[in-house]
Amino acid sequence: MTDKIPEHNAIAQAISARQDWVVERLKKFVACPSVLGAERSAQEYIASLYDELGFAAKMLPVEVDRIKNLAGYSPVDWDYHDRPNVVAVHDVKNPAGRSLIFNGHVDVVSPEPVKLWRHPPFTASVSREQGETFIYGRGAGDMKGGSMCYLWALKALQDMGLEPASKVVLQSPIEEECTGNGALAMLAAGYTGDACLIPEPFHETVLCTQIGVIWFQVRITGKTTHVLGAGQGVNAIEKSWVIIQALRAFEQEMNKPERIPEPYRATHHPLNLNVGVINGGDWASTVAGECVTRFRFGLFPGESITELKKSIERRVAEAASSDPWLKEFPPQVEYIGFQAEGCGFNDSGPFGKALQEAHQSWRGGAPQKLHATCTTDVRYFNLYYNIPATCYGPKADNIHGVDERVSLDSMQRVTEVMTSLIIRWCGIQKKKRPI
Ligand SMILES: [Zn+2]
Repeated sequence: MTDKIPEHNAIAQAISARQDWVVERLKKFVACPSVLGAERSAQEYIASLYDELGFAAKMLPVEVDRIKNLAGYSPVDWDYHDRPNVVAVHDVKNPAGRSLIFNGHVDVVSPEPVKLWRHPPFTASVSREQGETFIYGRGAGDMKGGSMCYLWALKALQDMGLEPASKVVLQSPIEEECTGNGALAMLAAGYTGDACLIPEPFHETVLCTQIGVIWFQVRITGKTTHVLGAGQGVNAIEKSWVIIQALRAFEQEMNKPERIPEPYRATHHPLNLNVGVINGGDWASTVAGECVTRFRFGLFPGESITELKKSIERRVAEAASSDPWLKEFPPQVEYIGFQAEGCGFNDSGPFGKALQEAHQSWRGGAPQKLHATCTTDVRYFNLYYNIPATCYGPKADNIHGVDERVSLDSMQRVTEVMTSLIIRWCGIQKKKRPI
């Protein structure tokens, strides 16, 4: 049975009273440097927060054999030893509403070059600037701040003597930033629900579409020689420029106005090619014998990963055929990391409506819709598990950049809306378990 619904005033007060509680925990969470392969300390920390709220946290290994044949799996050349997901379930015997998943990835991207940061990336400093409070640090925005919002909402409900009257699943996956295999493993293990909210730092907008993302790398073989005979060598680093230029031309074609679907017409250049990493040569006095360049590119919702791969391979082959060396020693295209399709979220369905009503009840107007030019883990829920999923999270600046920060004021607003969403979607009841 759903309990008496608290007034906004009472909710706002309960949330406000827990601000220090949240800041202290967010700082500790940000201080865990959970870059790829080093997620353990952050996972242990969030597990302790789940436990603190009375949800029993479980470490869940990511087992490649269980997910490698599933739709949405991204190939990797690293392993998952000691890199668990964390999950916790608030179970209700006779639910009054529908179940809800909160999902917030634990991984952060590298803060390098660290020397450019004014606020060290894993120190989590708090700063009041022009009437707004910010918490700085790698991952403060993307997306440990968002994860703290759902914990803040649940804590505030507990402080009011309440809890969700339906199942709530808390998910802290690894690898949102490179594969999505963490989220996939959690869903494949049966941690599902009637809807999912991912509080990515999208400034209190509702994500309605997101593009797909593919990672690929091009391996070029050159001919090593001592630099004194450089004329007889072939420099693989310099040859990689032929491929980069060809792929830049391909990028322009893929962004031609007639190719851009409706939601992205107002977005300047929605499909971005990034030359992210270049590894070539190993000695300053040797002509580079190999060069591997790693790229990221996008695709629109509804477009096929398989077709995009074929187009990329064709472009690389065409460019190689115009170069005598590359014609004889063709570059190899390899795939490691994201193989993510684009997807949409129906914001006029029941979950979209509940979220928009919750936002409207606090902010007085409808939330803005977001058509994202990046990917998030919502694709797994929407595309492969038929679970309506969207992002709604706080304002953050410089995510993936230098001096990343999240707005505490915005986190508080998101938490208010989340609390109302829980009430609307799950129902509430008097808290049964001891806090
Ligand atoms: Zn993120």
